[in-house]
Amino acid sequence: MPNNSDGQPSVIVVGGGPAGLTAAVTLASAGLTTVLVGMRAKRPDNRTTALFAGSIAALETLGVWRLCAAQAAPLKIMRIVDDTGRLWRAPEVKFAADEIGLDAFGYNIENFHLVAALGQRAAALPSLRVIEDEVWAVKPREDAVTVALKGGAQLRAPLVVAADGRRSLCREAAGIAIDARDYPQAALTVCLAHTRPHRDTSTEFHTPSGPFTLVPLPGLRSSVVWVLDPAQADAFKQLSDVELAVEVERASHSILGKIRVEPGRGLFPLSVATARHFGAKRIALVGEAAHVIPPIGAQGLNLGLRDAASIGEVAIAAERGGRDIGGADVLAAYEKMRRADVASRTLAIDLLNRTLLTDFLPVQSLRGLGLYMIDRIGPLRRAVMREGVQPAAAEPRLMRGEALSAAVPTGPHPRGHRSR
Ligand SMILES: Cc1cc2nc3c(=O)[nH]c(=O)nc-3n(C[C@H](O)[C@H](O)[C@H](O)COP(=O)(O)OP(=O)(O)OC[C@H]3O[C@@H](n4cnc5c(N)ncnc54)[C@H](O)[C@@H]3O)c2cc1C
Repeated sequence: MPNNSDGQPSVIVVGGGPAGLTAAVTLASAGLTTVLVGMRAKRPDNRTTALFAGSIAALETLGVWRLCAAQAAPLKIMRIVDDTGRLWRAPEVKFAADEIGLDAFGYNIENFHLVAALGQRAAALPSLRVIEDEVWAVKPREDAVTVALKGGAQLRAPLVVAADGRRSLCREAAGIAIDARDYPQAALTVCLAHTRPHRDTSTEFHTPSGPFTLVPLPGLRSSVVWVLDPAQADAFKQLSDVELAVEVERASHSILGKIRVEPGRGLFPLSVATARHFGAKRIALVGEAAHVIPPIGAQGLNLGLRDAASIGEVAIAAERGGRDIGGADVLAAYEKMRRADVASRTLAIDLLNRTLLTDFLPVQSLRGLGLYMIDRIGPLRRAVMREGVQPAAAEPRLMRGEALSAAVPTGPHPRGHRSR
């Protein structure tokens, strides 16, 4: 890998989860010398991720999507069903992608397939070196950040992209505080085989403990994200496959027919957290190092990929302009691109979750009224759908299908941002 004249890479990315890998592939695809330091996951991640149209366009442009598209299922219809059993129940709301001119809102894919495709693309990029190790110290200095690895190596770069997850060491090194709060909920995740087709439809049942969501996978398979009281989630996690299948079938009102639970279950305590700044001292935060939101409405990694695309965009522009790529103006531009998008989604998901948890009748009826209006008023429905999958105010160029280059500006990607 060619380095800068002083032998150091332009960027060090810390964290080999999906946000870090996407950031590294974005930067290296434009020719920036990049080092990614990531630890191997301690346990398998059996989660799936619903990626919306902008994320798919970015992954297509980076040459990643073709490596994993066959493992993804389209999301053509999204249903919200009020299953609270309360006095004020909302009407069922059904969103169809073709109402806003898309083939699909996005695609659902198992995380390990997505990470494998990103890893495969990363391995093919000459400007990117991947080091499997753990970072144990990060020291920001005036002109560069020094990163020390457990294996003994020391690296230096003018910009560090911190994708080291919710307990980010890099965020701490940058001196960035977070506002965080735990919810009295946990998400149980499991994949299923079933006898009835899902018809490319994701169904979110809103229950008094949180959403129970079925998301399509290819064939007669789906994933479940079941938000529950933590003790209940733990109890369900301990059930045998047959017992859990009965509970899932009950919660899903048998819409997918007979259920078989596949091996592997995940349990994720729910919380919300937002960093006060998304960059300081030559360190830019992406993905869950910057923000954590509950898995409702499938927004978390879509935000994380927009972070990766945005830091790529501003850093590549700085490199092309001969400016300091870790400088305060670059971090300020990154903050400006990301703040409103992260804040608005965090607020919306937090409010929706709280309206489910509350026993306060006026709030329940307001939620019902909101969903009723979304169901009945066409322009409002379409605005909600568009904003859900592609935010008007925060669309980095990669999400529009435009390749980034540190050398010469490029035109729009020929396929645009429409899904397949
Ligand atoms: C149940 C559930 C369902 C979800 N569904 C969706 C969905 O449908 N759509 C969506 O958009 N989002 C979804 N999300 C959110 C999404 O899963 C997360 O946003 C995403 O996984 C975060 O990725 P990340 O790369 O930021 O962090 P992580 O995946 O946590 O990666 C961080 C990486 O950094 C590494 N690391 C940490 N410290 C160090 C260190 N010191 N040195 C080296 N490496 C280090 C870790 O080992 C890890 O590999 C869901 C979340 C949950 C809990």
